[in-house]
Amino acid sequence: MASSFIHTPIEYLKGIWTARAAMLKLELRIFTFNDLLKFYPFRYVDRTKFYKVNEVNDTLAYVQLRGKIVGTQMLGEKRTLRFVAKFMDDTGKLELIWFQGAKYFSENIKPDINKEYVVFGKPTEFKGKYNIAHPEIEPVSDENTTLASALQGVYNSTAKLTAKGLDSKGIAKLLRTIIFSNDYKIDECLSAEVLSRYQLMGRQEAVRQIHFPQNTELLKKAEFRLKFEELFFIQLKLLKQKSMRETTTKGFVFSKVGDYFNNFYNNHLPFELTGAQKRVTKEIRIDMGSGKQMNRLLQGDVGSGKTLVAFLNMLIAMDNGFQTCLMAPTEILANQHFQTISELTKNQNITVGLLTGSKKTKHRRMLHEQLQNGEMNILIGTHALLEDEVIFKNLGLVVIDEQHRFGVAQRAKMWAKNTQPPHVLIMSATPIPRTLAMTLYGDLDVSTIDEMPPGRKSIKTIHSFDSHRDRVFGFMKEQIALGRQIYIVYPLINESEKMDFKDLMDGYESIARAFPMPQYQVSIVHGQMKADAKDYEMQRFVKGETHIMVATTVIEVGVNVPNASVMIIESAERFGLSQLHQLRGRVGRGADQSYCILMSSYKLSADGRLRMDTMVRTTDGFEIAEVDLKLRGPGDLSGTTQSGILDLSIADLAKDAQILYAARNMAQEILSDDPSLIKPKNTPIAYHFNSSNRSQTNWSKIS
Ligand code: ADP
Ligand code: MG
Repeated sequence: MASSFIHTPIEYLKGIWTARAAMLKLELRIFTFNDLLKFYPFRYVDRTKFYKVNEVNDTLAYVQLRGKIVGTQMLGEKRTLRFVAKFMDDTGKLELIWFQGAKYFSENIKPDINKEYVVFGKPTEFKGKYNIAHPEIEPVSDENTTLASALQGVYNSTAKLTAKGLDSKGIAKLLRTIIFSNDYKIDECLSAEVLSRYQLMGRQEAVRQIHFPQNTELLKKAEFRLKFEELFFIQLKLLKQKSMRETTTKGFVFSKVGDYFNNFYNNHLPFELTGAQKRVTKEIRIDMGSGKQMNRLLQGDVGSGKTLVAFLNMLIAMDNGFQTCLMAPTEILANQHFQTISELTKNQNITVGLLTGSKKTKHRRMLHEQLQNGEMNILIGTHALLEDEVIFKNLGLVVIDEQHRFGVAQRAKMWAKNTQPPHVLIMSATPIPRTLAMTLYGDLDVSTIDEMPPGRKSIKTIHSFDSHRDRVFGFMKEQIALGRQIYIVYPLINESEKMDFKDLMDGYESIARAFPMPQYQVSIVHGQMKADAKDYEMQRFVKGETHIMVATTVIEVGVNVPNASVMIIESAERFGLSQLHQLRGRVGRGADQSYCILMSSYKLSADGRLRMDTMVRTTDGFEIAEVDLKLRGPGDLSGTTQSGILDLSIADLAKDAQILYAARNMAQEILSDDPSLIKPKNTPIAYHFNSSNRSQTNWSKIS
C-alpha cells in the first residue's frame, strides 16, 4: 500500500546502520521515512556556480571552487594542530585548513598536479589572505560538476550526527535514497477542491521539490504548498475543537439587561465609553445570550479600558441571577481590581469580595458562606479562586485577567464550579499580532479594543545613554517639583540573579544620594521582599507619600497611579519589546504629559537598537508586537513558550500571515459545509486529520 512506504522505520533505509539510526532517533526524533521527509532544509545554496579564486571575498557566504592541491603541511601541535592544503586554480591560490580530523585529511589529500577537486565552504580573510576552514572537498566527477539542480538544501545537523557521517550532505544522501526510490509515494492529504482553489502543488511533488528543487520557482510553489498544509491542519483542529465544544456544551442564556446594568449605566458610569468599548461590550453580551458557552479573548492595549468592559458584562450576569468572579495573576493586581470594582459599585447594593492567598481563615470562612448563600455578587482574587473549597451558589461568568493563558487543568477547574460551565472572558494585556492570536487562541472568539480613551496625552519616549544620567536626574527633580511621581525600573529578569540584585541596590543607593530625605521620599519594591512589606511600600507610592518608586518588574502588571508621569527604564536594552511596552503603560494614565526614558549603554546590538528605536517611534502595542514577532519569532514571545502549537516545521507566523488567513478561511468553509468531514470529497483531509491527531490527548472539551 502506498502510504505504508513513508511509515517504514528508518532502520530499513539503505545507507543506515544501527548506530546511525539510533543517532537520528536520539538527536532529531526521526523514526520513520516520513519523519525524515519532514526534516526540511533550512536554507539552499547554489551548487552549479563555480567561483574563481580571484573572485573570492568574505562577503560571500559560500563559494564553490574547482582546482588542484599544490602543497600540504601540518602546522602547530596538540590543540593548535592543523592541516593546511594550498589550493590553486588558474587565477590564484588560497588555503584550506582543517583543525578537526587533521590527521585523516593529511593522509587523504596529497599534492597532485593531475588531480582536480571541487571545494565548497565559507571563505574568511586572515591577514589579507583568504582561507576556507573545514571545506567540503571531493575529486571532480560528473555528479558534482553537472548537478541537475541549482539549489541544494542545507540541513541542520549536530556534532554527534556529523561524527556518524550525517552532516548536511549525509542527510541529503539519505533523503535522495528515499525520494528517488521506485517505491516513493506520498498520499495527498488535501482535497481536489482545496488544491485547485489555491493552485497548490501536489504533496508528493512538493516534498520532492523542497528537498531537491529543480529551480527557484518550483521551490517557492513547494514551500507555499507545505506551509498551507501545515497551517490548514492546525486551524482545522482548532476550529473543530471549537465547534465540538459548541455543540456538546450548552451555555447559560443571559437574556436580560436589568437593574444592575441600567442603574450603573445611567447613574454611576464614571465616563463616556469609547466606541470600541461599546462595540466589544455588545459583542460579549450577544455571545452570552446566544445559548453557546462563551470562550472569548478580550484584547486591548494597556490602558484601553478592559476592566470597565468586563465589569459591565459582570452586571449583565448579575441581572440574570448569576454570580461572577475575576481572577488576576498577582496579589497586587487582585487588590487593585478589588479597589476599582468596589469604587464602581458604590451605593448600588452589590457585594464584592476579595480572596487571595494571604487572607486569614476567618475572612475566608465568611467569604465561603457568602458565596454559597448567594449573597456575594462579585468575587475577585488570585489563583486562590481555583481552590476546591471555593464553591459558588450560581457562578455564571468568569473573567480572567492575565498575560499568559491559563493551563487546561486550571480552566477545567473553573468549568466545574457550576453544574454547567460558566462563560469565560480572558483579558489579555499583551497585544499580540493577529497571526499569533489565530494560532494561539484559535479556538476562542476574539474581541479587540483598538481605541484609547480620549484625552490621553501620548507618552513622550526618549532614549538616553547611561553617561547622561545627571541630565536625567535634573529632569526628575523638575517633574517632582511639578508634583509628579516617578518610576525607576531595573531589570531583574531572574529574581535570583545576584548581579541583577546588586545593580538594583546600587541604583537605589545612588538615587537615595541624589534625592536626599526629607525633601525626597523614595520607595523600593522587589521580588525578595515579603508580600506585606512590598504592599506597604507600594501603598506609600500609590497614596503619593513617596516621589520615586525604585522597582523591579513586579510593577509590570497592575499598578495604577495616575499621578506617576515618568517611567525610567534602566538597562532598557535587556528588556524585550513587549515588556518595555507594558512598563511604559504604567504612565500616561493621568491628565499630565508623561515621559518614558530608556537608559542604555552605548554598546547596543542591532536588535537592541531596533527595540529602542521602535519604542521611541510608536506607542501602538499591536505595531510593537509585530516587530517583536519579527525579531524573536513566535516561540519566544511572552506566554507562548509552553504552547506546542507554535512548533511549526515550515510556516512562519511572522511572514506567512496571508497563507494563514487563507488556510483558516478554507478550514472554516470546509467545516461549516461538512462538520464531521464525512463527505467523500473530504476523505483525504479526514484521513490525514484523524491519523495525525489519534495519538494526542483530546482536550477539545475544555478550553
Ligand atoms: P486596561 O485595559 O489596561 O486594563 P484599565 O481598564 O485599567 O485598562 O483602564 C485604564 C484607565 O482608563 C483606568 O484608569 C480607567 O478608569 C480609565 N478608563 C477606562 N475607560 C475609560 C473611558 N471610556 N474614558 C476615560 N477613561 C477611561
Ligand atoms: Mg488591566
